[in-house]
Amino acid sequence: MQALARQNSKQTSHLQLVQPSTSIEVPRRLIFLGPPGAGKGTQAAILADQWQIPHISTGDMLRQAIAEKTAIGLQVQSYVNSGELVPDLLILYLLETRLSQPDTERGWILDGFPRNLAQAEVLEELLQRLNQPCDLVVHFEVTPQLLVERMLQRRRQDDTEEIIRKRLEIYQEQTLPVLNFYQQHQNLYPVNGNLAVESVARILQISLRA
Ligand code: AMP
Repeated sequence: MQALARQNSKQTSHLQLVQPSTSIEVPRRLIFLGPPGAGKGTQAAILADQWQIPHISTGDMLRQAIAEKTAIGLQVQSYVNSGELVPDLLILYLLETRLSQPDTERGWILDGFPRNLAQAEVLEELLQRLNQPCDLVVHFEVTPQLLVERMLQRRRQDDTEEIIRKRLEIYQEQTLPVLNFYQQHQNLYPVNGNLAVESVARILQISLRA
C-alpha cells in the first residue's frame, strides 16, 4: 500500500490544494470518467457513502426510468438496450433536474456523464449557472481485456458481448475527446483502475483525504 501511495504521491500534491484537509464541510464535487466496466460506479458508491453525498449515475437514472416505464424511460429504452448514447437533450434534462435537488448542496459524484464533448461543454455552463463548480475529474484507466471481463461478470441486460463491443467503440469515438477537454480545462487525476476494488478505494481515500 505504501508503494501505491508513493506511486500517487506526485498527483496527491495538487489534490491537497483542491481538498484542504481542514475543510470537511467544503462541498465535494467530483466527476468520474472512464470506460464502461472501469469501476467508476463501485468507487463512486463507496466514496459517496463515506462522504454522505449523492452518487449521481446517469446510467442508474436511465435504468430506473426504464424499469418504472416513465415517459422518459420509454423514450430511452432502445438506446440503453443497444448500447447507444441517449440524446443529449434528454440526459441533460434529467441531470439538471437531479443537480437542482437540495441534497447536492454538500457535493456530488457524477458517474457516466459527460459522455461526449457537447455534454462536457453544456455541463460546464450548467455547473456555473448552479454555482456548483467541479473540484476534480478522476479518470479510471483500465486495460480493454479487463473491461470486457468485468462487464461480462455483471450480467446486466446491456452487457452482452455484442453490446459491450458497441459501448467500448462509442467510448473510444465520443468519450475519449472529453478527456482532452478536461486536461485543458481542469485537474484530470488518473487512477489505475486495473487494481482490486479495495486498492482503488484506498488510493482514492488517500488521494482525496476522505
Ligand atoms: P452506464 O451505466 O453509465 O454504463 O450507462 C448505461 C447506458 O445508459 C449507456 O450505454 C447509455 O445508453 C446510457 N447513458 C448513460 N449515461 C449517458 C450519457 N451521459 N449520455 C448518453 N447516454 C447515457
